[in-house]
Amino acid sequence: MKKYNISVIKGDGIGPEIIDEAIKVLDTVAGACDFTLEYKEYLMGGIAIDETGVPLPDETVTGVLASDACLFGAIGGEKWDTLPRELRPETGLLNFREKMGVYANLRPAIVYDELLNASTLKPEVIKGCDIMVVRELIGGIYFGKPRENDGQKAFNTMVYTKDEIIRIGKQAFEFAMKRDKRVCSVDKANVLEVSQLWRDTMEEVAKDYPEVELSHMYVDNAAMQLVRNPKQFDVIVTGNIFGDILSDTASMVVGSIGLLPSASTGDKTAIYEPIHGSAPDIAGQGIANPIATIESAAMMLRYSLGEEKAADMISNAIKNVLKDGYRTKDLAAYDAKEVVTTAEMGDIIANY
Ligand code: ATP
Ligand code: MG
Repeated sequence: MKKYNISVIKGDGIGPEIIDEAIKVLDTVAGACDFTLEYKEYLMGGIAIDETGVPLPDETVTGVLASDACLFGAIGGEKWDTLPRELRPETGLLNFREKMGVYANLRPAIVYDELLNASTLKPEVIKGCDIMVVRELIGGIYFGKPRENDGQKAFNTMVYTKDEIIRIGKQAFEFAMKRDKRVCSVDKANVLEVSQLWRDTMEEVAKDYPEVELSHMYVDNAAMQLVRNPKQFDVIVTGNIFGDILSDTASMVVGSIGLLPSASTGDKTAIYEPIHGSAPDIAGQGIANPIATIESAAMMLRYSLGEEKAADMISNAIKNVLKDGYRTKDLAAYDAKEVVTTAEMGDIIANY
């Protein structure tokens, strides 16, 4: 029987709750599809600070690098917000992404027919919406140097090299080839030099993909267009900060931030995590929606382990559970037959 080694980082806030449900579902489909998953837990974020003094222990990096894939929950919370920046949970996560070289963050935003009323938009505006946001993850303003805050003046630097843009551009075009063959590159080229290089470079990458149609949009317009007419998009490729903001926007097109999964990939071990954060405001109450994390686990089966059938089983179970009216609290207002807890949602999906 095939065996895969999965590194697991539960993290803080709702992280442990949602990861437990993903593992529950993974084990069920593994059993049905004849493979086994062996999990090894590692620390990161606030819990790592409390237990080891640093947000990213070396052991976590080595452990994840040695595994076939990494399942990740979320990190951070108020408790650690007053620490110096280099010791904060978020710095640990940024360093982790950099060390893992996961330059491409794939964030699908697919509207469930079963949840058409959950969007803030009209059903006819979103029905059939299927967007892939390809967000650059280890460059841009989140990493650029110099950066400083001396209490009187503060600054960050948005940097992209041509090579970094080519690398993420290729990912986006490769995805578009398997989809509707349309790439929209989002930047702010009318104001920012770094965006002009981004735009020019995307044009160069496009020459290798003559079948794919490339368009460009300024980020402010893209935010508006995502809400006005999301179906116009197929693949959106953009930088680190714009991708962060646009995928949170896309989550409201889909209905809840608790529904959106992601994969962070590069040349080493890939990381699978929900797009949302640790949601400290709802932690420990059993009301977090585990679907984003469970669907991230399905992406892990699909992209890192090649277990397509098991991945489809999970995605189909989620659709059927939603069709039958099971809702966590974030979706309770939308055609709910029964409002269930985080753990109940995991059980129901595992048993479908
Ligand atoms: P990050 O900076 O890590 O992205 P954030 O500040 O954007 O974090 P989140 O932790 O994503 O914040 O939470 C934003 C809001 O969405 C909160 O009100 C939170 O309760 C809610 N939320 C996030 N995840 C879920 C979930 N799985 N189920 C239900 N609500 C969620
Ligand atoms: Mg966020």
